[in-house]
Amino acid sequence: MHIEVRSVSKSFGNHQAVSDVSFSINRGKLIGLLGPSGGGKSTLLRILAGLESPDKGDIYINGKRVNDIAPQHRGIGFVFQNYALFKHMNVFDNIAFGLTIRKAGKAQIKERVNELLDLTGLRGFEHRYPHELSGGQRQRVAFARALAPKPDLLLLDEPFAAIDAKVRKELRTWLKQLISTIGITSIFVTHDQDEAVEVADEMLIVQQGKLEQQGSPVSIYTDP
Ligand code: ADP
Ligand code: ADP
Repeated sequence: MHIEVRSVSKSFGNHQAVSDVSFSINRGKLIGLLGPSGGGKSTLLRILAGLESPDKGDIYINGKRVNDIAPQHRGIGFVFQNYALFKHMNVFDNIAFGLTIRKAGKAQIKERVNELLDLTGLRGFEHRYPHELSGGQRQRVAFARALAPKPDLLLLDEPFAAIDAKVRKELRTWLKQLISTIGITSIFVTHDQDEAVEVADEMLIVQQGKLEQQGSPVSIYTDP
């Protein structure tokens, strides 16, 4: 998957949240999108996912405008900071959700959910409900749910922000391993510099709506 962001701008009222941002991303990388709170990271991610339209500019996925592709065919998975699991559904049904709405068959759903339970270390938890899980477990369910329909791009909006520091550190290691196992292109939003450096292959630094820097963590932090 190749993603190209061309001169994207977005305002809310007279506040410019995203200002003339361009970049492109190639397959298989974990990109850290770093910057202070209110800098425009979430807005950029929502535009990338086609959840919000830019005022100017366009996003292209493999050469096609994202808004010309039906949402279920965009090949994008999303994980938010606040879990956003379905409370009335157990782990199995949460993970299966994206397959159920795509009308996958029962046997196929079962096979895929079992794969994801193994991949995310949740085997044995399939009958639990979200309130019976720890924060870290819930967020692993959110990853499994996002990955179930085999997206080409995974968008992560501060996925570990609501989790305490010790577990957050374990989850970062877990995430790096997961991403390298499945080889999916991912964008990881964070306002935590240490987290970005630890997780990302490449970083985009966004401040006051502008893309300030792009490069490897090493090149960014050894720049004068
Ligand atoms: P970040 O993710 O970096 O914290 P956001 O993209 O959430 O930044 O927000 C960028 C700016 O745009 C902030 O000033 C925020 O208040 C504003 N903003 C974001 N979404 C909306 C919205 N739907 N309506 C009005 N203002 C918004
Ligand atoms: P984040 O923690 O990622 O910055 P926020 O808590 O700022 O997210 O925003 C959560 C949601 O509220 C987003 O959908 C964002 O677009 C919207 N939002 C953010 N700021 C505003 C605002 N000033 N007015 C209206 N909606 C906003």
